[in-house]
Amino acid sequence: MQARALAMSVLVVALCGTMRIAGADSSVDASQSDAIAADVPMAAHPERVVDYTLRATLDPTLHTVHGEGTIAWKNVSSQPVSQLWMHLYLNAFKNQSSVFMRAPIGGFRGTTIPKEWGTIDVRKLTWKDGAEPHELWPTAQLRRGDDFDETDASIPLPRAVAPGETIDLAVVWDDKLPSIVERTGFDGSFHMVAQWFPKLAKIEPDGTFAHFPFHHLGEFYADYGKYDVTVDVPEAFVVGATGTVTESHVEAGRRIERHVQDDVHDFAWTAWDKFQTRKETIDGVACTILFPAGYEDHAERELATMRFALPHYGARYGKYPYPLLTLVHPPAGAPEAGGMEYPTLITTGGSSYIPNGVNLIELVTIHEFGHQYFYGLIGTHETQWPFLDEGLNSYAEAEAMAAWKGRGSFLDLLGLKVGDSEGHAERARHFAHDDRVAQPAYAYGTGSSYGALVYSRTATILETLRRVYGDKLMQRTMGAYARRFRFQHPVPRDLIETFQNEMSAEAGEVLRDALFDKGWIDFKVEALSSHAVHAAAGIFDDKDGKRATTPAEHGVSGKYEGWVLVVRRGTLHLPVEVELVSEDGARTRVPWDGTTDSVRVPYVGTSPLRAAIVDPEQRVLLDEDSENDFATAPGQAGGGAPRTLERATYWSQLLMGALAP
Ligand SMILES: [Zn+2]
Repeated sequence: MQARALAMSVLVVALCGTMRIAGADSSVDASQSDAIAADVPMAAHPERVVDYTLRATLDPTLHTVHGEGTIAWKNVSSQPVSQLWMHLYLNAFKNQSSVFMRAPIGGFRGTTIPKEWGTIDVRKLTWKDGAEPHELWPTAQLRRGDDFDETDASIPLPRAVAPGETIDLAVVWDDKLPSIVERTGFDGSFHMVAQWFPKLAKIEPDGTFAHFPFHHLGEFYADYGKYDVTVDVPEAFVVGATGTVTESHVEAGRRIERHVQDDVHDFAWTAWDKFQTRKETIDGVACTILFPAGYEDHAERELATMRFALPHYGARYGKYPYPLLTLVHPPAGAPEAGGMEYPTLITTGGSSYIPNGVNLIELVTIHEFGHQYFYGLIGTHETQWPFLDEGLNSYAEAEAMAAWKGRGSFLDLLGLKVGDSEGHAERARHFAHDDRVAQPAYAYGTGSSYGALVYSRTATILETLRRVYGDKLMQRTMGAYARRFRFQHPVPRDLIETFQNEMSAEAGEVLRDALFDKGWIDFKVEALSSHAVHAAAGIFDDKDGKRATTPAEHGVSGKYEGWVLVVRRGTLHLPVEVELVSEDGARTRVPWDGTTDSVRVPYVGTSPLRAAIVDPEQRVLLDEDSENDFATAPGQAGGGAPRTLERATYWSQLLMGALAP
């Protein structure tokens, strides 16, 4: 979610951080896009836990949805279950006392008070247990664990449901949609209907439910199943929804569309009487763009993005398994509906004019599409471990953008190239010591630190591993993770173990430290020195017994010797290169494994040592201060000048490199 707002802030920091980023080249050779983890087993289907068969009737004037239907739920845990937990997330927008509305969060989306509140009211919940139906809702309890919040309800059952047993529930409910507040609601006749139905919390293998109130910074977590949803709207409305249309007809002025999708864990839909439509089959997937009039250029750019993204992600993370994908570009009055992901349906965004070269539309589209993997197919607990979806997805976004657009993957305008990865690195750098990356969404103090660490620092950690250990190994590792854990609800340990096994034990340790222990790193060229090598002075006898005396400071050999002292500040251990630059222009690169706190790299050359650069390729994107990556020898050509002048020269060279076509 929220890539649009994120992208805007990335633009700001990326532009501010241009000097820092100029030397990096994160582009990826397109020929490397073979599926190099294709041998890793990948589940074709998830374990089916919960099936929803629902009917939703929209009143676009009152902005209400009447819902009714059935829920078939299987106890897939090892324990008998005597109560269910149900999420009623529209109640997050019911009043200012909800957990969502009380959160003192700044610097993120959804911070405004809605003009119209939203509610969800369950009218009836019936367990058809044999001949005797049980009415469950009268004993359901809201405000569990919180005196005011009504987004998380417990439902006692009259008897325990045995492991392996499936129960059938009938449900009737009414939604009042809020004015667009965060991801959901209405603006005029535009309706984005998300978090809209009573939804069972996910059951864990030990028989407990992963239930939680709707937190401001948190997202979702649910079991997989089949959604069969019939949407009933006025005839003039165009519907976009999760799942393939299996029936569609008009009846008494109403458009009735049935959408069916297996193997997903949520269902969202949109309805608007002003949608324009573009359709194209890409990589075997029926893509539909729904957009406002006047946004034809955006629709074309979104289609172009999908032409790249569908095969690219398929090769990297396993083939996209669904037959369709719908992209919704919300109208100008509903930007809060944009930048969000649901199974087979994503919302994009962007104002009416964004010049070519400012890859905002492409970035948002690719980010939200990436969530089909890092959220949809790899169903992690988004509230507990938000970095597993937003962080991995931000890495995948930056990797894909670089593979597609090269060095100017975020901005390529008037000769200035800014990479998406470098934007993430710059954004994350300011928050690196504040919070752990691997913590629940609600543990973050501000939306700014949440965004910078969950999205951008995770992306920077992973991009560092890609650059240090190589693109092929990274593709293999991430590809193995995405395939092995498709439909499996993995946890952080699964990710770290995949890196340990596929990349290296050291890489796994870097990942663990950086995610869980605020691990950081800053390489620094501490000092360097060289001197001319003289012939040895003193009295020497040759083999014929002839004696000669060589005075001190005579007999210059034409050789120079010296050293560079490089220190590794911080807690992370990463291999790096040190480049030694001679007065005569010769350059030598020496690898250092980075396992010690410092290294003294010896120098031998035919002219004095002029300068040294640690990590000349800027592979360690996590490096906190790239200005101290470079130093010149005192007293050498250029030496004697203030160090800041040297830095300015260095940076201007890098900038010129960046500006070069
Ligand atoms: Zn996202």
